[in-house]
This record gives sequence, structure tokens and C-alpha cells, in this order.
Amino acid sequence: MTYLAVPIIVVDVDQAMPASSQAVRAGAEMLELRLDYLADPTVENVGRIVCDIKQLQLPIIATCRPEWEGGHFSGDESLRESMIRQSLKAGADYVDVEFACFKRDDSSLSELLTTAPKQVIVSHHNFEKLPADFELRWEAIGWGCPGVGKIAYQAGTILDSFAALDLLRAEQEAQRLAVALAMGSAGVVSRLLAKKLGAFLSFAGLEDGAKTADGQFSIREMKEVYRWDVINSETKVYGVIGYPVGHSLSPAVHNAGFNSIGFNGLYLPLEVSPEYAVFRDFLDGMIERKWLDFKGFSVTIPHKENALKYVQERGGYVEPLAAKLKAVNTLVFDEDGKPAGYNTDYAGALDAITSAIGAERVDLQGITAAVLGAGGVSRAVVGGLCDVGAQVTIYNRTVERARRLAEEFGCKYGSLNELGSMEVKLVVNATSMGMYPNVAESVLGAEQIRPGMIVMDTVYNPMETKLLRLAREAGAVVVDGVSMFINQAAAQFALFTQRVAPKEVMREAVV
Ligand code: NAP
Repeated sequence: MTYLAVPIIVVDVDQAMPASSQAVRAGAEMLELRLDYLADPTVENVGRIVCDIKQLQLPIIATCRPEWEGGHFSGDESLRESMIRQSLKAGADYVDVEFACFKRDDSSLSELLTTAPKQVIVSHHNFEKLPADFELRWEAIGWGCPGVGKIAYQAGTILDSFAALDLLRAEQEAQRLAVALAMGSAGVVSRLLAKKLGAFLSFAGLEDGAKTADGQFSIREMKEVYRWDVINSETKVYGVIGYPVGHSLSPAVHNAGFNSIGFNGLYLPLEVSPEYAVFRDFLDGMIERKWLDFKGFSVTIPHKENALKYVQERGGYVEPLAAKLKAVNTLVFDEDGKPAGYNTDYAGALDAITSAIGAERVDLQGITAAVLGAGGVSRAVVGGLCDVGAQVTIYNRTVERARRLAEEFGCKYGSLNELGSMEVKLVVNATSMGMYPNVAESVLGAEQIRPGMIVMDTVYNPMETKLLRLAREAGAVVVDGVSMFINQAAAQFALFTQRVAPKEVMREAVV
């Protein structure tokens, strides 16, 4: 079993129980009592607290991390040793003891390896980086440790996560208990895949935003978004590659979809720094490790061109319109690890429009359309509309950008200042105007919108922008940015799973 352990910051005797009970109610499978935060650190207090918390009938780890290992305990070392021994006497199932203690002659904690060998978690932390001698350190921890070995280090880039994943895989095969954590936003895969790889535990924070370590999710996120309860060794893995990626709605949307159709999949946020070499090495590393079961990726800013280049370099299939758009936002891999690249952004825009008006894509042939904006999203919208034969004019604040895009796709262009009265059937806002916090902005005024017009906003925060409110009030058909987002995610979902996406459930996950 891989435990989902919740660290409890223990300040005093009275506060420890409510916090621990809250963790139990939230679904914690193990509690780590962080005794180094005690305001009055005494052996007696430790005994009382551990005895109390035992009543909750969950396995307990007692940890009293010293400042010299990144913890909060600054008192006398002999007191710390007594507190750790007392916690075992009072019924703690495990004690976390720093590896450095076993190398010192004067530490009385060494005897625990003889008196309570299976209850000791031998830990080592590096809050700066992946240690150059990572494997040697792990070997040293393993030699003296009949219980659980734990190593945690700060991940510089996502490539540093491979050390933790490889370690967990090796220890899983050797049937030894291990914890390996790559800390930081680039290392979250090590936390989220711990259960798939049979780790001893993964940690989760008690409340959203109240983390005890960098890169840690809350217990609610681990269970509701990241499917902790259903992950097993067979789980197929997907994710969104971006930089930054912490704000992405894609994990919530795809995992809700997996849940709804009972698909054994897990979708992760993957923070991959912008350089092509990191992107390439990450994908190669994932695919090389077949035991990770990585099957597909969503790709977002700034990696859509990198994804196209990667598929071309690896000799994979590229959807023709994705090549024309010079942007791949979806990667899937066959059994031999060969990639195929698609673009579902344009499909998402087209499907959002057609589903709002109850039409098929072919019905958009000949429709007059104004696309406002000439950035990345506009490119996908223009490409999709031109592909189905719409008559597109691109308007942009910077006219030169509109001209270049229009020339690529063979359409007309102009300045946002020339909009005047809109005589087109379809208007798409692909500028960032109206996006939070600039919610009072609208690229069009009420007088420019006619009843029966189709007005789509690609901005999805807020869901009803000022533009969409004006359009609704003017009797236009409105299409919101969430609809475009969900439709592009649904197209990815179908490529990932070969199943029809549960769009309603996916939408509910974000609205
Ligand atoms: P981008 O490449 O940076 O392009 C931004 C566009 O907005 C440019 O055309 C820019 O004009 C224009 N613009 C920005 N501020 C403006 C202002 N104050 N007045 C007039 N024009 C302004 O951004 P993007 O990636 O295309 O994203 C555009 C929007 O799409 C974002 O707001 C985002 O919310 C939305 N989006 C939606 C989805 C979805 O699935 N629904 C997905 C991704 C993004 P210049 O060329 O003159 O700078």
C-alpha cells in the first residue's frame, strides 16, 4: 500500500487533535506529526500528543526535524533524541530520523536501527538541488536501513524528476519501502506517480494553499483532481506540458473526464522549461521508461512549435493543418514510442461555433467572419475557419501582424480602428481584451452587434465577458471561451482514449 500522508504542524497539545481529525475526515491514510513546530517541546508533551492522536487509528510518523536539516527544531540535540524515542514509546508507528544521525558517533538514535528497525524512516533532504552523488547517497541510506528509506531534493527542471522515478521503480522491483520526492513545481510527477510506482507514501497538505513543502498538493487536490484512490500500477499517464503550467485547467478537465467514463488514466501538470533541448529530453525520457505508461500529452505555451519540431525529428505523423498552423498542441505515442502530432485548438473553435448554432463544420463554408486579434489563438481560429471555407477578415491593433497572418492564410485584414459597423455573420474575439482583471473592456461596442450575429469570445476568464454580455443583450448567438476550451480538450480526450469525451462533466469541472 502507498499511504497518502498528511503532515500535521503540531504547535501544542490542544491544537494537534482538531488538525489531525480534520485530516482524517479529508481522507488521510497516515499522519506525520511535525513535532519540531511544538511551542513547548518537552518529552511529556510528545507522549501526550502521540497517545491522543493514536485514538484516530491511523498510522503515525513522528518527525522532529532539526534546523540543520531544514526543519524548525532549534533546541538541544539530546532533547530531540529523547522526544523521538518517547514518540515510539507512546505508540508512533514510525519515526523519521535524518541519515546524518547514523553517521555520528554521539547520536543515541543509531540504536533504533537495532531496537525498532522496521519503524525507522531514514531520511535525507537537499533543499537546493538534485545531489550529484544521488545514487551513492541512496545506497548509503539503504545499507543501514531495514525500515523505510526516504530521499527528497529540489528539482531544478523536470528532468531532475527522473532520478526519483527511477529510484521508486527499482525499489518497487526489489520490494523495498522507499520515498523519493523531487520538490518544487518541476518535480510534482514524483508525488503524483508515487502510488503507481509503489512508493511507501506521498504527502499532501491539509488545506488548499497550506503546503508544508514546495510542490505539494492538498489532500483535496490529490483525491478529487489527481484520482489518488483509483491509481494503480496499470494506470495510463497523460499530462499538459507548459511553462508555467500551475494555472492550467487541463488536469481538472481531463481527470474529471477519466473519472466519468471509468478510464484508468491520470493527467498531470508538467512544468517543462522553454528550451527545446529540455522539451526533447523530457519526452525521450518519458517514452524510454515504458513502465511509466505515458501515452499522450497536451502541449501549451511556449511549446507548441517545439512539439511540431519534435514529431518531425522523430519521423512521426503530423496532421496537415497542425503543420500549416506551425503548432502541435496534442501528442500521442504508439506502442513503439513513435509520436503523432495534432492541433485541437482550431477544432475546439469550430466545434464550439457549430454546437452553438446546431450546425456541422461544412455549414460554415462561405460564412463571413471577422477575427479580432492576430496572436496564437487567432492563428488557430483563422486556420480552422479558412480550412472550412469561411470568408475571413483579420483585424488587429498592430496591423502589420494582421497582414502577415492574412497573407499566410489568404484572407483580408485591417486595423481594429476600422471595425465600424460589422456586416459579418460571425465575430470572434481572439484578443485578450476583457480578460480578468480588465473585465470592463470590450473589443466591440453594443452598437456594432446585430441580432442573429454569432459572437464568440475566446477569453474564458470571466466566462461571460463584457463583449458576450453586450452580444446577449443585443440578441446575438453567444459562444463563450470555455466552450472552445472544452471542445479542444474533448478532441484531445478522444485522441488519448479512443472514447467519446463526456463534455458536460468536463465543463462542470471548470465552471
Ligand atoms: P497573444 O498571442 O499574446 O495575442 C494577444 C492578441 O491580443 C494580439 O492580437 C494583441 O494585439 C491583442 N491585444 C492585447 N491587448 C490588447 C488591447 N488592449 N487592445 C487591443 N488588442 C489587444 O495571446 P493568445 O495566446 O492569442 O491569447 C489571446 C486570448 O485567447 C487570451 O486572452 C486568452 O484568454 C484566450 N485563450 C483562450 C483559449 C480557449 O481555449 N478558449 C485558449 C488560450 C487562450 P497586438 O498584436 O497589437 O499586440
